[in-house]
Amino acid sequence: MSVQRFVIIGNGPAANHAADTLRQQFSESRITIFSKDPFRSYRPHLLPDFISGLVKEQEIYFRPYDYYKERDITLRLGQAVVGVDFSRNRLFLEHREVVPFDGLIIATGAKPRIPEKFQLFADMMLTLKTPIDAKMWIQKLLDVESVVIVGGDLTSLSLTKALVKLGKRTRFILTEEAFWPSVLTNEIYKTATDRLERLGIEIVHCRRIRRIARLGENSLEIETDREVIETGALGAFFGLVPDVGFLTKTGLDIDRGILVDEFLKTRFEGVYAAGDCAQVYHPVLRDYWVSIGYENAAFLGRTAALNLAGSHLQVTLKAESILEVGGVKVNTSWWTEF
Ligand SMILES: Cc1cc2nc3c(=O)[nH]c(=O)nc-3n(C[C@H](O)[C@H](O)[C@H](O)COP(=O)(O)OP(=O)(O)OC[C@H]3O[C@@H](n4cnc5c(N)ncnc54)[C@H](O)[C@@H]3O)c2cc1C
Repeated sequence: MSVQRFVIIGNGPAANHAADTLRQQFSESRITIFSKDPFRSYRPHLLPDFISGLVKEQEIYFRPYDYYKERDITLRLGQAVVGVDFSRNRLFLEHREVVPFDGLIIATGAKPRIPEKFQLFADMMLTLKTPIDAKMWIQKLLDVESVVIVGGDLTSLSLTKALVKLGKRTRFILTEEAFWPSVLTNEIYKTATDRLERLGIEIVHCRRIRRIARLGENSLEIETDREVIETGALGAFFGLVPDVGFLTKTGLDIDRGILVDEFLKTRFEGVYAAGDCAQVYHPVLRDYWVSIGYENAAFLGRTAALNLAGSHLQVTLKAESILEVGGVKVNTSWWTEF
């Protein structure tokens, strides 16, 4: 029998745990990881500390290149997959290379969400997902003394703390749609604003943002329904959405993320999805749920790999551990306290 070729798209926890598990199952097979990011695996929760200077850049990366070499896993960084032909089991890289596979695990994670109504202002907003984003923050903070954070997702608080540590005037616009994956009730709004104020953060109380305008390279004007404020930088934290745009029109079932059954299998033989990019069927709820969080992603990556290797492991989550936010069912292994 010829050597099996396993391909994994992504280089986050889901992808890496999938690769390790496949290697444990198959000592001879070819395992290749493709990541559009040009850097090694990193610890996203350390990015705010990197921005504040508490952590050095080398500390955010883990898994040296030797780790992959020792396990005979090919790591191809900075190589985006732009399409997949599931009928012929091959994928296409941005630089036009065609890569065949016998088994595929899609673990492309999620990217920062900018709601429709803010799309127009997206180029004035900074987000935070990768070390490159963190470097953009570091660069910007050299030139500005004030920052407005709009949103309220799980990343924004740690970044806000970092900004305070750097002595920046930090104001916060806590918006309803950004409190993902929690629901912003009046009670949570009060608790969150009390906590933020105790940290020295000003709250901009408003119902909506009407307009954002650039006054200069390091000066923005934000008009809310109550006031007009000026700031040096604007951070947008509206949660993350699955990074699956390149897979539309490939025949995969995609809703919010890639729809997979409770075994993490897509509609195509030998093709699985795991981590933040997947939407997993729950047989009791008879509905799909979205995964958020590092540990969840690692667990789903391992499970997808074991199933690709021939196991029949069902992802069983207690229905109570799945919360519903804005019509989307979510399970998070992340800390959820704001
Ligand atoms: C700033 C920040 C702080 C966080 N803090 C925490 C925390 O404290 N605790 C916690 O549990 N979770 C935290 N998270 C969330 C956690 O990082 C994610 O849930 C987790 O990383 C998801 O893992 P994943 O493997 O599914 O995807 P990701 O880690 O997002 O990895 C996706 C990978 O896919 C690659 N990719 C995407 N598209 C393509 C393509 N077309 N071709 C090739 N490669 C592609 C990317 O380059 C990347 O390597 C944080 C996230 C952020 C952004």
